[in-house]
Amino acid sequence: MPVGTAGTVKAVPQDVLESLGAEIILGNTYHLYLRPGHEAIRRLGGLHKFISWPRAMLTDSGGFQVYSLTQLRKVSDEGVHFRSHLDGSSHFFTPEHSMDVQIALGADIAMAFDECTEYPADRDRARESLRLTMNWARRSLDHLRAHQNEVVWHDEFENRTQSLFGIVQGGVYTDLRRESAERLVEMDFDGYAIGGLSVGEPREATLEVISEVLPLLPTNKPRYVMGVGYPGEIEQYARMGVDMMDCVLPTRAARHGLLFTSEGRMNIKNKQYAEDQNPPDPICSCMVCSRYSRAYLRHLMHAGESLGGTLNSIHNLAYYIGIMQRVRAQLLSHRDENSPIPTAASGTNPTPH
Ligand SMILES: [Zn+2]
Repeated sequence: MPVGTAGTVKAVPQDVLESLGAEIILGNTYHLYLRPGHEAIRRLGGLHKFISWPRAMLTDSGGFQVYSLTQLRKVSDEGVHFRSHLDGSSHFFTPEHSMDVQIALGADIAMAFDECTEYPADRDRARESLRLTMNWARRSLDHLRAHQNEVVWHDEFENRTQSLFGIVQGGVYTDLRRESAERLVEMDFDGYAIGGLSVGEPREATLEVISEVLPLLPTNKPRYVMGVGYPGEIEQYARMGVDMMDCVLPTRAARHGLLFTSEGRMNIKNKQYAEDQNPPDPICSCMVCSRYSRAYLRHLMHAGESLGGTLNSIHNLAYYIGIMQRVRAQLLSHRDENSPIPTAASGTNPTPH
């Protein structure tokens, strides 16, 4: 899922996202709540209508952004007090309030309000944080179920419903992770996410958590790993059985001139590309690689032209979406043949590390 923080996947228009094959994008509750405000978005017909995105959308709970405001927040059983990074104003988010904001935004998938456990966190701290997250998961579910009929679906989106996903936490402690997964499954969410990863833990810990938790989550519901990853990682996780992932990496890296290609990572600002007339990625058929040269993309970045960030973002998203399309096609063909699924190591996509 490309990440559309403030109602836009930065620098990329919605029609381009559609033509790239993006089927779902993510919006950040915290940012949209602060600006333009969830009530304004409700009055404008909901997030789909407001940003003109007819395909699926997911909103996070705001928990992760609040977690990022380490100096500006105070957590209690009831919820989180925090100060806006925009103007310092005071706000209070509870699970119920997060659900109300997400109902007003009206995405297809809402996320339970959770506390993202930081890394490193000792066992007691991780356990206490998990207690809070499980309590908030229950409150999120009860509140959303009671108010689900308040979602305003614009005419063209009739017959849609808003789903709610629970979020597995527990830090790097696999027993806490298992407990978290089992309790959420008992609560019966519409889908399940593994959160609290990509917060500085070693790659092996990320893998261990995913491989411990995935088998505990029902395969007939979406399984989502939040906030990952590099191209080689998303391919590996998809092959392990992860259905959904989101990451700002392809677009954020693009705005800094970093391209992901079949030949590895490329810093397009490097001098070696100054007169390179090749496309950014010779085997990519995206609208950028079909038309523009490395030399031109480098020039745009050096000239501070905003088109540079746009074109880089389009290529990186095409590359990421291409990985998932290829994995999906392989999974489907292997399922049909009833043969083993190839591992990431035997796949055709070179890891750009
Ligand atoms: Zn391309």
